[in-house]
Amino acid sequence: METRKPPAHTPMTQFASHEGELVVGGIPLTRLAARVGRTPFYAYDRSLLTARVQQLRAALPPAVKLHYAMKANPMPALVGHMATLVDGIDVASAGELMVALDAGADPQEISFAGPGKTETELRQAVAAGILINVESFREVPLLAAAAKELGMPARVAVRVNPDFELKSSGMKMGGGPKQFGVDAEQVPELLAAIGKAGLVFEGFHLFAGSQNLKPESIVEAQQKSFALACKLAEHAPSPVKFLNLGGGFGIPYFPGEQILDLAPIGANLADIVDQAHTALPQAEIVIELGRYLVGEAGLYVSRVIDKKVSRGQTYLVTDGGLHHHLSASGNFGQVIRKNYPAAVGNRMEAADTENVSVVGPLCTPLDLLADKMTLPAAEPGDLVVIYQSGAYGASASPQGFLGHPAVMEVLV
Ligand SMILES: *Cc1c(COP(=O)(O)O)cnc(C)c1O
Repeated sequence: METRKPPAHTPMTQFASHEGELVVGGIPLTRLAARVGRTPFYAYDRSLLTARVQQLRAALPPAVKLHYAMKANPMPALVGHMATLVDGIDVASAGELMVALDAGADPQEISFAGPGKTETELRQAVAAGILINVESFREVPLLAAAAKELGMPARVAVRVNPDFELKSSGMKMGGGPKQFGVDAEQVPELLAAIGKAGLVFEGFHLFAGSQNLKPESIVEAQQKSFALACKLAEHAPSPVKFLNLGGGFGIPYFPGEQILDLAPIGANLADIVDQAHTALPQAEIVIELGRYLVGEAGLYVSRVIDKKVSRGQTYLVTDGGLHHHLSASGNFGQVIRKNYPAAVGNRMEAADTENVSVVGPLCTPLDLLADKMTLPAAEPGDLVVIYQSGAYGASASPQGFLGHPAVMEVLV
């Protein structure tokens, strides 16, 4: 009888290794750890970030603009690097706006989305001259007042909560009742209010969801988003200049997951660009990506403090854990906990011989970085590496929980 093996992690090949050491930005891991001065730390590889953007551009039609959604990784040096590579930055708070502006992003190409923008944030956005994605009727008079007071135009797009969902998405952010954007059926009324208030209407923003590895679902969502935008454009006070179709491109984290095939997405976007020539002749088509641009370029590195055996199960206790990397612990929106790919970064040539659970120093069983994973035999002092850690890492983790030191971050 045929026995079926459980799926394995796709081998992680983005980082090379040399003499048994993982290499980040040309630096062997133990030397990098010495340079950082302490563990745990996140390391992001500049050349991988650059390569990812180049690869994506090669797969997409040149007319499509690429934005970086910086909530995926707001480290200022990384945002500065990304700002030189992409066409614009999407921010989700006034705090992120400050980082994007400091990073040298062109305000003309910064957009601001998010429910619950405060009056102060809206005023800051108008003063900065960026594009504001309106997500509520409440924002209209506040933006009009800020524009009047500052003697500046309030540039707006309408964030639409579509009447469809992104299928097979890790996290749905559109369709059905949502706190994001304005329901498609209310958008004509919102557009009228925007026109009446004298805001400068520039276009639409649709974002259906995150972490999708099925090109056919992304294609379907982009087609439906485009069709919806064309329909809503009939109610707009001025021509659509900017159509942000969202993103949602996923990266493989778990056993059995494969990298996203960009070819059908590129072909579909080329088709949309073509249709837009006649349907929305002034519109620039934009996609906004966070995780896909930065996720695979980052590692989380922690040091083994202790090794112990409990009733047959070996535990590697590290100085890093859930407080720095909530996603890898499985507690950032995952329904079923699965292991992120991991390695012993200073024993890359050793065979996987030991089944271990890698846990952090927190007094909670949730603090688990790898559950019963087969790795090379590791000892205290060794460096455990979690791959696919460039997105939703440090800034998405409860660093104050249990009072351990904050995590370090380096861009190499
Ligand atoms: C979070 C977010 C993104 C980025 O999502 P990823 O899955 O990281 O690509 C893009 N746009 C908006 C509006 C978001 O809220």
